[in-house]
Amino acid sequence: MSPEIIRRRVVVLGATGSIGGCTMRVARALSEKIEIVGLSGRHNKNLLLELAQEFPSAHLCAGDETSSAWLSSQLGGRHVLQGDSGLLELASLPSSDVVLVAIVGTAGLKPSLRALECGKDLAVASKEILVMAGEEVMRVARHTGSRILPVDSEHNAIFQCLEGRDHSTVKRLILTCSGGPFRQATAADLRAVTPEQALRHPTWEMGRKISIDSATLFNKGLEMIEAKWLFGIPMEKIDVVIHPQSIIHSMVEFVDGSILAQLSSTDMALPVQFALTYPYRFEGPCEPLDLAALGRLDFEKPRSDLFPSLDLARRAGSVGGTLPAVLNAANEAAVDAFLAGKLSFPGIWESVARAMDEVPFVEHPTLEELIAADLAARAAVSYGD
Ligand code: NAD
Ligand code: MG
Repeated sequence: MSPEIIRRRVVVLGATGSIGGCTMRVARALSEKIEIVGLSGRHNKNLLLELAQEFPSAHLCAGDETSSAWLSSQLGGRHVLQGDSGLLELASLPSSDVVLVAIVGTAGLKPSLRALECGKDLAVASKEILVMAGEEVMRVARHTGSRILPVDSEHNAIFQCLEGRDHSTVKRLILTCSGGPFRQATAADLRAVTPEQALRHPTWEMGRKISIDSATLFNKGLEMIEAKWLFGIPMEKIDVVIHPQSIIHSMVEFVDGSILAQLSSTDMALPVQFALTYPYRFEGPCEPLDLAALGRLDFEKPRSDLFPSLDLARRAGSVGGTLPAVLNAANEAAVDAFLAGKLSFPGIWESVARAMDEVPFVEHPTLEELIAADLAARAAVSYGD
C-alpha cells in the first residue's frame, strides 16, 4: 500500500488518559490517515463526552452504568457501552484495524487478547499486560498474524532501530532511563518521599501510576520484561543506562560494536504516531529536536543499591513463570497504597520483594493461574489499615 492512501481505523482503550491525549493529538494532525472508531474512558467522563462530540461516529465505552447512562443522555441517546464487557465489545469492533491499549495496569489484558483473537493489530502502551502475560499475548498474535506495535517510547525506539535487521546480530538492547525525580537522592531522602514529590517527573508528563513507577524505577524494570517479550531477546541481553535528558529513547548494540539510537523530543505523540502509521512516516504534531540548543547528552550507571527495582525485575524476567505477574501486581497495589498515604516510598520495593518470595510459584502458568497469582500478589501487599 502506498503511504498516501493509508487509513487506519483505530479504537483507543483509555482515551481519557495521558497516552489517550497524545493519541488524540496525532489523530487530529493526521485526520486523513487515522480515523477514530472507538473510545473508552473510565475516569473523566466530561472529557469522554468532549471526545464523543469531536468524533461523532466513534463507538463509546464508559466505566460503569451510571456514566454510560449520563453520556448517552448528553449525546441525544447515542449508544454507550460500559464496563469490562463493553471493553471486550469495543476491542472486537468489525470496523477497526488497530486497537491501541492505553489503560493503566492489567485491566486491558482481556480486551487486548480479544483484539488479537479478532485479528486486529495491537498498539501497546500498557506495558503491564506484557509483563503479566507476555507469553500468551505474543502466542495469540503469532497465531492470528496480528502485529504488536510498541507505543512505550523505549520499545518504539528499539522497534525503529531493529526495523528490517536480523535479530541474531543483536548484542544488547540498551533501555534509557531518565532516573526519575530522585536520581541523586540519598537513602534517607528516599524514606521521606511524599506522593506529591514522587509525582513530579523531571522530563515527562504522565499518568499517576507510571509517574510513581518512574520514581521507583519499577517502570524501567517493567520495561526490561516488556522488551524481552516484544523482541524475543533474553533478559541477560537487556541493559539499562541512565540518560537524564530523555532524548535518546533507547538503543540497540549489534555484534560488530555498532550502536543505533533513536532520538526525538520528549513527546509520546511520536511513538503513538509511528505505531499507528507503521511502517510509514508523516509530518505530525511532534516538535523537532534542536540538538545545538540541547548542548549535551549525559549517561550514568543506574544505582541498583538504592533502587532495587531493576534487580527484582531482572530476577522476575529471568525466572519467568508467575514471577513477573507477581512483581507487576504487587507493584500496582503498592503504588495505590503509597498514593493513598498508607505505605512509605521504600515500602513499594519491600512489598514487591515480599510478594515475590511469598506467592506460590508456577513455572508454566495458564492464563487463569496468572490471574490467580496476580490476585495473590495484591493480597500479599499489606500495609495495615
Ligand atoms: P492515565 O492514568 O493517564 O490513563 C489511563 C486511562 O485508562 C484513562 O483513560 C482511564 O480512564 C483508563 N482506565 C484506568 N483504569 C481503568 C480500568 N480499570 N478499566 C478501564 N479503563 C481504565 O495513564 P497513562 O499515563 O496514559 O498510561 C497508560 C498506560 O500507558 C500505562 O500502562 C503506562 O505504563 C503506559 N505508558 C504511559 C506513558 C505516558 O507517557 N503516560 C508512556 C509509556 C507507557
Ligand atoms: Mg517508557
